[in-house]
Amino acid sequence: MVWGELYSSAFERVRAKVGNVKGVLLAYNTNIDAIKYLERNDLEARVERTGKEEVIQYSEELPESIKGVPQLLGSILWSVKRGKAAELYVESCPVRFYMRRWGWDELRMGGQVGIMANLIGGVYGIPVITHVPQLSKLQATLFNDGPIYVPRVEDGKLKLLHPREFNNNEENCIHYIYEFPRGFRVFDFEAPRENRFIGSADDYNPNLYIRSEFRERFDEIVPRVQLAIISGLQALTRKNYREPFEIIRGHLEVLNEKKVPVHLEFAFTPDKTVRKEILKLLPEIWSVGLNEVELASIMEVMGEKDLAEKLLASDPVNPIAVTEAMLKLAELGVRRIHFHTYGYYLALTSYRGDFVRDALLFAALAAAAKAKLGDVSLINDIASAMDVPINDKAKAVEEALVKEYGMKNGIAEVSGYQLAFIPTKIVEKPKSTVGVGDTISSSAFISEFVLR
Ligand code: ADP
Repeated sequence: MVWGELYSSAFERVRAKVGNVKGVLLAYNTNIDAIKYLERNDLEARVERTGKEEVIQYSEELPESIKGVPQLLGSILWSVKRGKAAELYVESCPVRFYMRRWGWDELRMGGQVGIMANLIGGVYGIPVITHVPQLSKLQATLFNDGPIYVPRVEDGKLKLLHPREFNNNEENCIHYIYEFPRGFRVFDFEAPRENRFIGSADDYNPNLYIRSEFRERFDEIVPRVQLAIISGLQALTRKNYREPFEIIRGHLEVLNEKKVPVHLEFAFTPDKTVRKEILKLLPEIWSVGLNEVELASIMEVMGEKDLAEKLLASDPVNPIAVTEAMLKLAELGVRRIHFHTYGYYLALTSYRGDFVRDALLFAALAAAAKAKLGDVSLINDIASAMDVPINDKAKAVEEALVKEYGMKNGIAEVSGYQLAFIPTKIVEKPKSTVGVGDTISSSAFISEFVLR
């Protein structure tokens, strides 16, 4: 199998037709990311000053939210130790103040919606209608040029404006992102790979605050789009999920009525009640995107503890365990499940065709370009990832799938579903990995429709 050729053919076909998509609705989370690149001495000194014994405790098991500085630092160590991402809500004002004083190296567009808006609208040139819970001046400056819109009601009429034309000075929602490179050392921990921990100082996105334009005029927004991507459910808790979930159910009803396929982008969701509620939404959802941590956490609430453990036990992640887990999700009624991990992607679909695999290839190129350049601003930037090598470890994954399911050219038939596999390109020294997961999932979902 010549993956190189499949990669370039998929890219050319998506690039030629990407402009044909009529519009994409993106809801619900947009925020400001304040990025801090961790330094060993600084972090160790902070842990010592705070009380190493207590901090280390939280590096063993993540708290549900951050109520103190020991929990913040411990959660950062949890991520470093495993090379895994995690995101927690910062409840406490003193911790927010601590983070602000610790500072940042860079400000960037944050939230899955914000990141996807800049990619789909700003880079692919597809019109996007975006939910921004709070549109502050700073937030507005983080949007790219291009067909990116937010709705506003003027004289009773629904208008679509670029976020910079919105001109309402609303609040700042800041997420502090603590990034570390592969091999980052702190005490006797060493990061097996680059990743980050996120502490969010934001009272809107964690509650999934939904703006009045989206509550009251949703049925006028939907006819203007062909696809929808929803995200941002991850920070909800059993205390605050009910109201937003009711609105989301209403939104899904309108979207399904108008035959707009909906993709749900998962993110690590600490609260088990919310995870279970998300599972109940799946019959109304066309497609989901998730990584190994997210898939394992879902298996856990489905009572599949052994499978959940298997998903986190080996590196690269055991693709047979992943397929078994995806089948369990598929049985809940979702038509497409896109799994991504470091080194390979899989998609399990209730329909068949090479375009599913080719959409994954395009997404992997977009991801590699994003990791390599930090930000992608033109679709041609994605072509620059063509020379990033396909990672070696995926060979064993491919062989395992060939042996288990008789996979050919990255496609297999498994229990009445199609399984598509691709080995990904891995950037050795990425500039940044923030938003790579969102880039992967949204690019694959959209290009699947481009290639149909
Ligand atoms: P997020 O959604 O927060 O961006 P995820 O964990 O969902 O994070 O996605 C990260 C994905 O990015 C991984 O599953 C992997 O496929 C991809 N990735 C991570 N590092 C690299 C890299 N250096 N080069 C290419 N792809 C990468």
